[in-house]
Amino acid sequence: MLHDARPPFAADIAVIGAGAAGLFAAIWAARTAPRGSRVLALDGARTLGAKVLVAGGGRCNVTHHEVDERQYAGSSRNAIRKVLRRFDVPQTVAFFREMGVELKREESGKLFPVSDSARDVLGALTGATARAGARVVHPWRVGAASTDIADGFVITRDVSWPHAPDASFNHVRIHARRVILAAGGMALPKTGSDGAGYSLARALGHEPTERIFPALVPLTLPAGHWITGLSGITLPATVELRSNTGKRLESFTNSTLCTHFGVSGPGVLDISRYYTAAKMESPEGGLPGLFIDWLPSMSEEALDGTLRMGGSLSLQRTLQNLPLPERLARAILEQCGQEPGAPCGRLSREARRALIQAIKSTPLPVTGDRGFTHAEVTAGGVPLAQIRLETMESRVRPGLYLCGEVCDVDGRVGGFNFQWAWASGYVAGCASARSLTDHAGG
Ligand SMILES: Cc1cc2nc3c(=O)[nH]c(=O)nc-3n(C[C@H](O)[C@H](O)[C@H](O)COP(=O)(O)OP(=O)(O)OC[C@H]3O[C@@H](n4cnc5c(N)ncnc54)[C@H](O)[C@@H]3O)c2cc1C
Repeated sequence: MLHDARPPFAADIAVIGAGAAGLFAAIWAARTAPRGSRVLALDGARTLGAKVLVAGGGRCNVTHHEVDERQYAGSSRNAIRKVLRRFDVPQTVAFFREMGVELKREESGKLFPVSDSARDVLGALTGATARAGARVVHPWRVGAASTDIADGFVITRDVSWPHAPDASFNHVRIHARRVILAAGGMALPKTGSDGAGYSLARALGHEPTERIFPALVPLTLPAGHWITGLSGITLPATVELRSNTGKRLESFTNSTLCTHFGVSGPGVLDISRYYTAAKMESPEGGLPGLFIDWLPSMSEEALDGTLRMGGSLSLQRTLQNLPLPERLARAILEQCGQEPGAPCGRLSREARRALIQAIKSTPLPVTGDRGFTHAEVTAGGVPLAQIRLETMESRVRPGLYLCGEVCDVDGRVGGFNFQWAWASGYVAGCASARSLTDHAGG
């Protein structure tokens, strides 16, 4: 046990984790708290907001034009809706505008900063934090949090953490009247979100979900599978998850990318958590299946008609005219045992059926996923059932608030995960600050 002679730093509100949700919570806590309150945001990372900076390929997809609970999974959608509606998309747009960052809407409905710079988004967040009077301390990795004192929490720095602590703040212990846990999940662990949030939640009495797994993650295929030979091809496709009885469970249509390890792109990322969850839930031998439709814009009947009318046009040319990329067309024909140069009109009925099947319903023998290192978000976490949704205060530990990815909420690609961070951070920040006066003395 480390001996620290100095008295602990006294904070009114300590936010653990200064990512998207933590910074937002700190801003709203400091804006709402009585004058002179000490709001502190602690983060173990050397680079603050690393995830904001890498988001959206460096452009930061801040939110989506249409956000509703159907774009999320994890805890009940009803619970998710209750939090989302407390801080909606127009409020997000207004917040960033007020901080000098105008957002633009792209055709897909995603909202990005007009400057296309994630740095501007991070600048708006850190600027708002400072202006509101909250202090960000980093690197300062929290090793433990407990309720060892009567009127709040004891937070202890992880002294084994390799990054030297913030020189201007050399306290090892903090006494905080309120704690907001915003330590994120496990996706992209090198940014500092390595699952410590779950341990801290457990230490404070919570039970995160039994299953915590990567979501929005590329999927792998067996080495040498023909799709891995198509690395670099991108096309709009539908990925569909079916039960072992063939029932459609989930499907997403979006740009799909073939890679040297398997498949990626927004549609694949979106379906990945449903595939993994279904696989974990299915009894042995009852594995779910993933299928890809390379030509979602054309029905099987229309495709059948096109192939029947193909006449002397080569199979390769006919498929490219659909349109399918040249390499994919060639690979599909090879899979069906057809000569690319053979005239389309010569296809037998069965051969035509097989070709349609290969185009509209290629099975993907998924071997796994690329793991947390390549995932954008975490599925699982602290269930919303353990949290009061009107305040994001813990139901098991009064004075503790939770927000962001540490909660059992994960959204689709498109800005939904940040919107969850903004909304839940806003609720936790405002409510924790109000509670300082609601029941003064903690
Ligand atoms: C590559 C990538 C791209 C993405 N792009 C988008 C996008 O464009 N749009 C979108 O909506 N979402 C995107 N996401 C998802 C989004 O970034 C996250 O859902 C969001 O950042 C979660 O916010 P958070 O604050 O809850 O967690 P995090 O952003 O993970 O922040 C948690 C913070 O807690 C700190 N921390 C952890 N443990 C401790 C500890 N013990 N002590 C102190 N500090 C600690 C970490 O250092 C970290 O800074 C992307 C994610 C990735 C990985």
